Amino acid sequence: MSFVLTPPATVAVPVAGGGSFPVHRIYCVGRNYVEHAVEMGHTGREPPFFFLKPADAALVVPEGETGRMAYPGLTANLHHEVELVVAIGRGGRDIPVTEAGQHVWGYAIGLDMTRRDLQNDMKKQGRPWCIGKAFEQSAPIGPIHPIGRTGRLDKGAITLDVNGQRRQKGDLSELIWNVNEIIAHLSTAWLLQPGDLIYSGTPAGVGAVQRGDLMECRIDGLGSLRVAVA
Ligand code: MN
Repeated sequence: MSFVLTPPATVAVPVAGGGSFPVHRIYCVGRNYVEHAVEMGHTGREPPFFFLKPADAALVVPEGETGRMAYPGLTANLHHEVELVVAIGRGGRDIPVTEAGQHVWGYAIGLDMTRRDLQNDMKKQGRPWCIGKAFEQSAPIGPIHPIGRTGRLDKGAITLDVNGQRRQKGDLSELIWNVNEIIAHLSTAWLLQPGDLIYSGTPAGVGAVQRGDLMECRIDGLGSLRVAVA
């Protein structure tokens, strides 16, 4: 086959210990920690809901480096959301909760960067969130750690500091829908495929960053992810 344009490169996230993980799709879970749901004006356990970012929204940050995110256009309220990212190694449809763990290849630290002002406008108008969520560099991600090295991550601190000040703090055990339940739900709506990434939701404390700010995210067992807003 001869392409009439140069095909886009596969987005690849480095794997801790060697190799690269090819990204297929980026799924995100909305409001998956109780305190964050409350700060966004909701309560209780609603069914999980999902949105997507394009694969090339990933801002790949290699181990030990600081990513540089350009402050995006159209917004005056760019929010940080630190999240556990689940990397899918084996696809499937209608995956039972009891088997979901077998589909996890590994984990990473990610940021679901959000143009909150645009997202809120779209919410009010009942329109899609894409413009608030799915822009270039909106999905910073650190190296993927194979589950064989980390074991299952179902508890442990998840935090985000801006310029050394703690902004977000939670524990993976506080997820409203845990990773296996997320995989089960997602796979009823989409054919989950190898290379999919799932951003699993953010704890309370989301807020705005400005040009010049440095975000430092940590999850127990996954090290840190540093991203500067340029
Ligand atoms: Mn999020």
